[in-house]
Amino acid sequence: MKLVLIGCPGAGKGTQAKVLSEHFGLAHISTGDLLREQVKSGTPLGLKLKAIMESGGLVSDEIVSELLSMRIAQPDCKNGYILDGYPRNVSQAEGLGAIVGELDKVVLIEVPDKAIIERMSGRRSCPACGAMYHLKNNPPKTEGKCDKCGAELVARADDNEETVKHRLEVFHSQTAPVIDYYDKKGLVLKIDGTKGINAISEELIKILEKL
Ligand SMILES: [Zn+2]
Repeated sequence: MKLVLIGCPGAGKGTQAKVLSEHFGLAHISTGDLLREQVKSGTPLGLKLKAIMESGGLVSDEIVSELLSMRIAQPDCKNGYILDGYPRNVSQAEGLGAIVGELDKVVLIEVPDKAIIERMSGRRSCPACGAMYHLKNNPPKTEGKCDKCGAELVARADDNEETVKHRLEVFHSQTAPVIDYYDKKGLVLKIDGTKGINAISEELIKILEKL
C-alpha cells in the first residue's frame, strides 16, 4: 500500500502515520527526516545539504526525489510506505508519480484552523523538567506553574497565535493545489481530524483495510 498523508501543522499527522505504519507494516517516510539523516551521515550529498539548510535555502525537488527513490528501494518498503510531509506542491506530486507510480490513497486529515489555533496556542511547557500542559485540555493545577517542579511555564515562540495563523496560511496555499491534483485522480480520503486520536485511527484502518 502506498499512501500520502496530508494535514496542517498540529493536525496529528505524525501520530496517525505511526499507527498506520505499525498496523499495516508500512515504512513511515518523512522527507524532513531523510534530509536530516543525510546531513548526519556526512556524505558529500549530506555536506551539500547541510550548507543549503544552514544558509536557510530550499533543498531542490530533484534532490528530495533522489533521496526518496533511494529510500523506497529499501527492504522495509516492500509492503509499502506512508509519505508524511511530501509532496508539498504539484510539481513534487508529479515527480512523485514518476518515481512510485499510482498511489493507493491520499489521506487528508482535516481540522478547522480555529481548532488548530486553539490546540497550539494553548500549549505550555516547563523549561525545567519538560512537562507539557494545555491551558484548556490539560491545565496545570496552579495557573502558570508546573505541577511537578513548580517552575514558571512557558509557551513556545512557534505556538503563538500569529505564527500558527501564518503557518496555516502557507499550508493552505501550498497544499490546496496538491489536494485538487489528487482529487481529480479520485485518490483523496478526507478524515475528520477533530475526533480523538483513537477514533481517527480506527476509522482510517477500517477504510484502508477494504482497499
Ligand atoms: Zn516542571
